[in-house]
Amino acid sequence: RIVYVNGAYVPEAEATISVFDRGLLFADGVYEVTAVIGGKLLDFAAHMARLRRSLRELALPSPMEDDAILAIHRELVARNALDLGHVYLMVTRGAADRDFAFPPEGTKPSLVLFTQARAAIETPEATRGLKVATVPDLRWARRDIKTVQLLYPSMAKMEARSRGADDAWMVEDGFVTEGTSNNAYIVTQEGTIVTRSLSNAILHGITRAAVLRTAAEHGVRVEERAFTVDEAKGAREAFITSAGAFVTPVVAIDDVPVGTGMPGELTKRMRANYLEEALRTAI
Ligand code: PMP
Repeated sequence: RIVYVNGAYVPEAEATISVFDRGLLFADGVYEVTAVIGGKLLDFAAHMARLRRSLRELALPSPMEDDAILAIHRELVARNALDLGHVYLMVTRGAADRDFAFPPEGTKPSLVLFTQARAAIETPEATRGLKVATVPDLRWARRDIKTVQLLYPSMAKMEARSRGADDAWMVEDGFVTEGTSNNAYIVTQEGTIVTRSLSNAILHGITRAAVLRTAAEHGVRVEERAFTVDEAKGAREAFITSAGAFVTPVVAIDDVPVGTGMPGELTKRMRANYLEEALRTAI
């Protein structure tokens, strides 16, 4: 694989980054993951807008303008002949002597991008649905910023796996926040999609925004509000969204089947509608 590190396209085995990089020492960095289908980027402008917001919230310097970042995405897709998968992008505060205080102004941020090929469309998860296990949400209070500080979500996923599930849904004060790397939804018995409203408690998913837009266009009712684990267990359907999973059904919560225990009809329709819209606007 050819990867991009601080201005250079290099084979992955030759890519280097400083041991003093603050991404490594403090998880002082932010990231984006943009899906690629047929060599095209999905929702690219929205990912850049969120990247800008994450950078601003952490007073991280911008490595370059959006069009230059787009050019790197395209170059990597081309050099790696990527058809299906995603591009990972990370910006850190760069290398500086280890100190909790931010380094002096003028310290160059690090910019790293790489591609990951993945059979993202016809996945077993999409066909059979995911089982989720609930765990307490022990992350920090600024989950709206897409930082590379992902240890707790990683631990939560392992906890879910150890309980025979595929992923975790995190819970705070009795209400589901989101999945380890995705937003969480239920469909009520009346056919309304319910997903938590935007706040610092969850990441503002790009796929979430697109799916809610699609729902509105198709006349599907949506309520943006928190839901409890009990409400979710009694729901007709459940699903998650992310740039990696698009819309993927959830068929069990803590071993309780959701609805029929099979991927829901509305969920399947939302997946198809989302993919159609995202492909139409891919660049
Ligand atoms: N929530 C969390 C915690 C995530 O890590 C992600 C994906 N990175 C999402 C939600 C989904 O966001 P998106 O649709 O932008 O991929």
